[in-house]
Amino acid sequence: MPGIFAGTPLERPVTCAVCERPLDVCRCPRDAAGNVLPPERQTATVRMEKRGKGKVVTVISGLDPVANDLAALLKQLKGLVGAGGTVEAGVVEIQGDHREKIAAKLREMKFKVRGGPG
Ligand SMILES: [Zn+2]
Repeated sequence: MPGIFAGTPLERPVTCAVCERPLDVCRCPRDAAGNVLPPERQTATVRMEKRGKGKVVTVISGLDPVANDLAALLKQLKGLVGAGGTVEAGVVEIQGDHREKIAAKLREMKFKVRGGPG
């Protein structure tokens, strides 16, 4: 059945609905279900938590662990504030109270941010 798809969208390679590039070169962030999930459609919650011995950490939660490279984000935030940190179960933790800087950085990266200082 040659030409059955000629002139229809099925004739073309499958492209991303967002960036219109072929799916194998598309770099749009996607969640585990394969849905495009850009930063502007995600809300990060930034809060401070107390840990033992008077230590505090800044906790960033709510970011999709598949659509975002949380390890890269951790590295970036550690460099930003000059502190250590970790990623566990999709939650990023940075040692110390850096809510203001981290919230500003996340906003700069186009995430919606809930919380922050105060
Ligand atoms: Zn795309």
